[in-house]
Amino acid sequence: MHAVSETLGGWYTMPRMRRALLLTAAAVLSGAAIVSGQPGRSGAPAPLSPRNASYTITARLDPATRTITGAETITWRNITTVAAAELQFHLYWNAWKDNRSTFMRERALAPSDGDRRRTADDWARIDVTAIKVGGDDRTAAKRFITPDDDNADDQTVMAVPLAQPIAPGMTATIEVEWRAHVPRPFARTGAIGDFFFIVQWFPKLGVLQDEGWNCHQFHASTEFFSDFGVYDVSLTVPGKWPLGATGVEIKRFENTDGTTTYRYYQEDVHDFAWTTSPNYLERTARFEHPRLPPVEMRLLLQPEHAAQAERHFDATRTTLRYYGEWFGAYPYGHITIIDPAYQSGAGGMEYPTLFTAGTRWIAPRGVTTPEGVTVHEAGHQFWYGMVANNEFEDAWMDEGLNTYSTARAIAQVYDPNVLALRYFGGFVPWVFRDVVLSRETEGNRLPGYRRDAESDTPSTPSFRYFPATGGSITYDKTALWLNTLERWLGWPVMQRIMSTHFERWKFRHPKPNDFFDVATEVAGRDLGPFFDQVYRSSNVFDYGVQDLKSERDGGQYRTTLAVRRYGEAIFPVDVAVTFSNGEHVTEHWDGTDRWKLYTYDRPFPALSAQVDPDRVLLLDVTYTNNSKTLEPKGGSAATKWSLKWMVWLQDCLLSWAALV
Ligand SMILES: [Zn+2]
Repeated sequence: MHAVSETLGGWYTMPRMRRALLLTAAAVLSGAAIVSGQPGRSGAPAPLSPRNASYTITARLDPATRTITGAETITWRNITTVAAAELQFHLYWNAWKDNRSTFMRERALAPSDGDRRRTADDWARIDVTAIKVGGDDRTAAKRFITPDDDNADDQTVMAVPLAQPIAPGMTATIEVEWRAHVPRPFARTGAIGDFFFIVQWFPKLGVLQDEGWNCHQFHASTEFFSDFGVYDVSLTVPGKWPLGATGVEIKRFENTDGTTTYRYYQEDVHDFAWTTSPNYLERTARFEHPRLPPVEMRLLLQPEHAAQAERHFDATRTTLRYYGEWFGAYPYGHITIIDPAYQSGAGGMEYPTLFTAGTRWIAPRGVTTPEGVTVHEAGHQFWYGMVANNEFEDAWMDEGLNTYSTARAIAQVYDPNVLALRYFGGFVPWVFRDVVLSRETEGNRLPGYRRDAESDTPSTPSFRYFPATGGSITYDKTALWLNTLERWLGWPVMQRIMSTHFERWKFRHPKPNDFFDVATEVAGRDLGPFFDQVYRSSNVFDYGVQDLKSERDGGQYRTTLAVRRYGEAIFPVDVAVTFSNGEHVTEHWDGTDRWKLYTYDRPFPALSAQVDPDRVLLLDVTYTNNSKTLEPKGGSAATKWSLKWMVWLQDCLLSWAALV
């Protein structure tokens, strides 16, 4: 089960039965079934997805000139109710043609990116040299369009008007030829030395919806959106360079010119990524579980990280196990983990059946690099890979759900998860074994949310978030409100919300209201007011104890407690009071008014009061004002020391927050 072997090709180590199955599927689907759009005949397994955008691609990489020449045949079926009068394609690499693209202009607003000086050869481009639709040459008709802004210099979306509209239900065959230049890495894409990480690399159709084409320009802080299909891709690279890609290798040719051609195949995915480098080491292992299908794991890693192979597999197993148990099974049977080259900038990114992790040469146990990033990126196979939301518009639906899920999975296995910081340019890690990170606050990235809480309203299309702070809303705020929902409704209900959403929307494109509808339906109560607060507003939550007094009044003590809503956002909170005889009183406040007064007449004075004592509301931006104590329990020395400790801890967490 934990077998690890070093091999030249995962395909050749695959059990014979699996190989036969894959070849059968490939043979069936590369024939009539793809073209007719009616897979499932000839005894092939029923498709998991609509498969309305399938790509057969051949491409050749020339590493010396960093050039890719490619040709693709797209079999596209119009699954909407409207006719398509034109086609729209993403040409993502044109975002890195020069610094006048929308991507580069937006990136300039995010100072943390720290762009290096680039030579002319470090930039990218993708030029479509020919396009035919149903045999009709449309090359002269193609033009660039800018659906999101008026930037006439942006060339990341190409429109191709058609001579004949494609009616609903009809299938078109589209043939495209192109030539592209591989950049020095931008946004986890490109080449450094002889390491090539090739993603978002081919002319790719947008998504036709009943409202028309959804084909956004490439933006600095958002990702991608496309339809599901079958990918059959043949890649020619220098002889014997190991290659990793979406899907599984079904054929390999050694060509007379010394190059190698790999053919990869994958059904029911919406993208295809690949990587090659002569330096990759290959390891394989297997995920097994009593109630989930097995998964062959293939790891391509840098030689200097050879000792960390098992850690990558274990972290991937963590995701496959917990996401599988909580949300639903990973159905593809194989997954490829890429450990990218040092300074390639390719770490921590997801593609169907393939993702990049990222580690360092020194990564002692306790430093959850590579575990944190591996669990997260493997997790995107579920939130993004299968449940395929529009990442341009609703990035929180994959990144936020996945940040919440990652923190939950990490807490199952890496417990306690302790603080680790890196010094000297990231080379030297230091593990603070006595500083335990909590899933609820650090795992869900509370420091980032607190910093940028009001920077954007989540319901704004994600590509319009301010680039420098968008991540805090997309990842951090979403994870915090999901975990708040879990603490409020209980995990059994939350688990059913997540698994129902997964089951209902896998291999489809959910919108935010689809998630909110599932949550309300499963919880059996109207959660609309909650989503109004956390999703349709940028207001912050901050409840606190304004005042607590216990004054002698005859033989009694009169205790008055004033609690206050300091923030604009509203959430029901408990208020707990403890008296000196040990008595506890819990009040349930709907949290709507700006303040509320509680009074008690008791023979004993109050000791302390606390708003939200169980910290259900993880979005509360100032938890330190949530409690008040009338008599310190410890001596003054203990208080002094604990305050010092708190300041030090806060410093650590702030530094940590600045690093992630
Ligand atoms: Zn992510």
